[in-house]
Amino acid sequence: MPATRERADVSAPTPPAAAAPTRAAPRAPLPWRRALVVDAVAETPHARSLVLDVPGWPGHRPGQHVDVRLTADDGYQAQRSYSIASPPEAAGAAGRVVLTVERLEDGEVSPYLAGELRPGDPLELRGPIGGHFVWDVSLGGPLLLVAGGSGVVPLMAMLRHRAAAGGGPPARLLYSTRTLDEALYRDELATLAAGDDALAVVHTLTRAAPPGWSGYRRRIDGAMLAAVAFPPAERPHVFVCGPTPMVEAAASALVELGHDPARVKTERFGPSGPAA
Ligand SMILES: Cc1cc2nc3c(=O)[nH]c(=O)nc-3n(C[C@H](O)[C@H](O)[C@H](O)COP(=O)(O)OP(=O)(O)OC[C@H]3O[C@@H](n4cnc5c(N)ncnc54)[C@H](O)[C@@H]3O)c2cc1C
Repeated sequence: MPATRERADVSAPTPPAAAAPTRAAPRAPLPWRRALVVDAVAETPHARSLVLDVPGWPGHRPGQHVDVRLTADDGYQAQRSYSIASPPEAAGAAGRVVLTVERLEDGEVSPYLAGELRPGDPLELRGPIGGHFVWDVSLGGPLLLVAGGSGVVPLMAMLRHRAAAGGGPPARLLYSTRTLDEALYRDELATLAAGDDALAVVHTLTRAAPPGWSGYRRRIDGAMLAAVAFPPAERPHVFVCGPTPMVEAAASALVELGHDPARVKTERFGPSGPAA
């Protein structure tokens, strides 16, 4: 079964930081690497973070992803993309990389990654991939992040990097999930925001809310974005990630509010039933 892929450049290596030559030389294909699972951490009832050591890892930028390839005993292979949740600062000498995978009950690959892989197991991956959906503190701000479901993963790498860099520009995360229990990194996000006046984290819940919930209780829309986002005049860098319908609705609403389309970067994780 082919992987869910929404972007034409997903297998292209990261462009070098230096100015691109006028005629780009053909790029060598990214090598597959054999990673080792060193830990598997439950994030929610349906999602796990896989802590991997990747020998030879070349480093990455916040927002990039990897391709993961599974090979069955009979040689059948399945390949999917997963964003890198960890910041570049965490890679260290071991090439440590963290992925967070949400289990889709009828999925081919995610139930294995989110449920069956164990510490000590090997995992094949290649990356880092993607040069468009990336942000680091050198790009400045303000930084507006809009996530649905597991779409928060690459945005978390940006926030973790921002924290590791000692703060950085003002940042806001608007995060939509069906319930609060499905929100990834909930405690860590709350801790980051509590210790940083320049960071705001706003949740919206689309299905059920806990007793006493006073936050948003609907899908992300224009009115919500108008209330939460930095004004377009501040020219924020905007990153929107999640299920396809949510990404398209949020990006359209941001442009209607007056945000520069060139500064609204999107990443679609694939098809979805109800938008988160
Ligand atoms: C650049 C990129 C980064 C990604 N990063 C992450 C990540 O960090 N964490 C993560 O959990 N996933 C991420 N994904 C999604 C991931 O690649 C897989 O699509 C997902 O894990 C489903 O794979 P599967 O084999 O389990 O499901 P499949 O067997 O491919 O599909 C099973 C069913 O689910 C539907 N479906 C497929 N993908 C999705 C989806 N994303 N959301 C809802 N329904 C879907 C299919 O239409 C099908 O009905 C990313 C996708 C892309 C393109």
